[in-house]
Amino acid sequence: MDRPYRLRLAFLGTGAAFSPERYNGAVVVDGRLLLDGGAPLLPHMHRCGVDPGAIEVVFLTHFHGDHTLGLPPFVLYRVFVDPRPITFVGPAGLAARLEALWEVSWGQDWGLAMKDRFRVTYVEGQLSGMVASCKYEAIKLDHGTSGSSGYRIKVGSKTLAYSGDTEATAPLDQLVEGTDVAIVEATGPGDVFSHMSWEAASDLKARHPKTRFLFNHLYSGTVDGAVSDLEVVEV
Ligand SMILES: [Zn+2]
Ligand SMILES: [Zn+2]
Repeated sequence: MDRPYRLRLAFLGTGAAFSPERYNGAVVVDGRLLLDGGAPLLPHMHRCGVDPGAIEVVFLTHFHGDHTLGLPPFVLYRVFVDPRPITFVGPAGLAARLEALWEVSWGQDWGLAMKDRFRVTYVEGQLSGMVASCKYEAIKLDHGTSGSSGYRIKVGSKTLAYSGDTEATAPLDQLVEGTDVAIVEATGPGDVFSHMSWEAASDLKARHPKTRFLFNHLYSGTVDGAVSDLEVVEV
């Protein structure tokens, strides 16, 4: 009998923005999808057995630094070491925000020696689509003034939800409803402004008993269901 399809999730970092204990958040799915790009990416991909050249798509939830600042060195790898094409999916404004990030990171050299060699496609502001054989939907979540684009992604026979940063409001229940696996932030206990508390994470999990929850984006300490930096989970 065939073994049921399992997703391989490599958690490169699992910390909140200014966590003193954990690296900023990034997850690699099946060696080919990257969910957010918190620093550092390249050494952690190496440690988790992920080939940085094999990433086909990057899903970005929002543009806060703890979700994007691992990307400039990663992009240089894709310019100079392994120039396979890559697609970035994200909120409206994606292309302008990322091009500005590459420019501020590498200065004039970006435009002179790198930009033309970067085989990138930006897909911004779409509510649904298909990329690298994966159907996805984006759901706007409540987080600060910008919000966060959570994703429901069909990978093989599994449906994965990924929140990025969010408060525990109704769109988050919509995001995780009926999914096999949900990677959801759980920043800390008590009052965690514009984020989800551990108490709310536990309540969310109880409302969706058939979904396997993996909590990330922790500030300090740990909570039931949380993953760790450099942990690889098969689900
Ligand atoms: Zn964050
Ligand atoms: Zn944020």
